Amino acid sequence: MEFKQFDVNKLMYVTNRPELVFTEGSGMWLTDHNGKRYLDYLQGWAVNALGHSPQCIQDALVAQGKKLLNPSPAFYNAPSIELADLLTDNSVFDRVFFANSGAEANEGAIKLARKWGKKNPAANGDARFEIITFKHSFHGRTIATMSASGKDGWDTMFAPQVPGFPKATLNDLASVEKLINKHTVAIMLEPVQGEGGVIPATREFMQGLRKLTQQANLLLIVDEVQTGMGRTGELFAYQLSDIEPDIMTLGKGIGGGVPLAALLARESIACFEAGEQGGTYNGNPLMTAVGVAVMKELLKPGFMQTVRERAEYLRAGSLKLSAKHGFEGERGEGLLRALQLGKDIGPQIVEAARNMGPVGLLLNAPRPNLLRFMPSLNVSNEEIDQMFSMLSDVLVKLGH
Ligand SMILES: *Cc1c(COP(=O)(O)O)cnc(C)c1O
Repeated sequence: MEFKQFDVNKLMYVTNRPELVFTEGSGMWLTDHNGKRYLDYLQGWAVNALGHSPQCIQDALVAQGKKLLNPSPAFYNAPSIELADLLTDNSVFDRVFFANSGAEANEGAIKLARKWGKKNPAANGDARFEIITFKHSFHGRTIATMSASGKDGWDTMFAPQVPGFPKATLNDLASVEKLINKHTVAIMLEPVQGEGGVIPATREFMQGLRKLTQQANLLLIVDEVQTGMGRTGELFAYQLSDIEPDIMTLGKGIGGGVPLAALLARESIACFEAGEQGGTYNGNPLMTAVGVAVMKELLKPGFMQTVRERAEYLRAGSLKLSAKHGFEGERGEGLLRALQLGKDIGPQIVEAARNMGPVGLLLNAPRPNLLRFMPSLNVSNEEIDQMFSMLSDVLVKLGH
C-alpha cells in the first residue's frame, strides 16, 4: 500500500486518523501525498480564518523571521504591542496576555479569576474560586481546562483533577442561579458551544448572565477560542448579544493557522502581580506578527459584511439541502454552522465525502447527527455551491 512510505507508528497514538498525509494547502483546498485535492470545510478546526497559507501570513512570517524570532518574554517586542493595541481598540477589553493555545489562554482566565476572587473575597473573608461552567462545553485539554469542560467524563478522566467547576445547563438561567454560593467567583461559557454541537447561547441568556453576574459581583468569562475573530459574523461573538464581558479568551482564528492565543481582561480585573503569569513563547514576535496580519485583514472595510453575506448563503444552502433530504434544518452563527441530520449518519457521510474521487470533501461531525461547517472567512459563494453539490452526491450515493 502506498501509504506504507510513511511510518506513522513513531507518532504517539492519540486518535484515529485516515491514511492520508497532507502536503499542501491553498485557500479552501488541501492536497494529500497522492496529489488528490480536497475542498476543506474543517480549515484546521476553524483555525485558518483566511484559508490555507494566505499571502499575508506568508509575508508576515518571512518579514518577521528575518527580523526577530524571540527576544524572551522578559522583554517587550513590537508585534505583540501592535496586536494588543488592535485587539483592545476593537473590543471592550483593556489588557492582553498572549498564549500559545486556547487551553493555555483558558488556564490563564481561570488563574486570573481565582486571583481576583482572592482579592475580592466573600463576606466572611473566604477566597472565592468556583467557576460555573456548562454541560457539553469545551475549554481545552490541560488538566484544569478538562475539569472545566462539560464533556461527559472529562472532569475525572485523569483524576484527581481540579475541583471548583460546577456545571450548569446552557440557556437555563435558573440552573446557573442554583449553583451560585459564597465560593463562586465567575461564570465561563462559549457564546456558541462549538465541540458540543454548534449550540448558540441565546441573546436573552447572555444578557441574563450579565445581569446576574453584575448583581452577584461575579466575573463573566467568554471563551471565544472558536467564536472569536470574525467567525460568527461579528469580530467577537459577545457583540451579538450586546453585552460587555469581563474576560475573553481567543485562539484558533487569531493566528490564522499558527499557534497563537490570547487572554483579554478589563483593566479593573487585570490583577496579576509580577511572576504570577508568563511562559517562554508567550507573545513571541513571530506569532504575534501573524496575528497582526490576520487582524488587519478582518478590519479591512467590508470584510465582516462579506462574512455575514457568506454566512447567509451557507445558511440558505443548508436549509435547501435539509428540505431536499428530509433533515431537521440547521443552526449556528456566522460561518460556524451545523446541518442537523436527524439521524446518526454524520460519521458515515464524513468518511464517504473524504473518500470520493477525483476530488474529496472534508467535513466534521462533532456529534453523529450533525455536520459542522467551518470554512475560511473568505470562502466564496462558488466554494459553498461546490460543497453542497459534492455533499448532495455523497448523500445520494449513500441512499439518504
Ligand atoms: C479549540 C477550543 C479550545 C482549545 O484550544 P486549543 O488551542 O486546542 O488548546 C478551547 N475552547 C474552545 C471553545 C475551543 O473551541
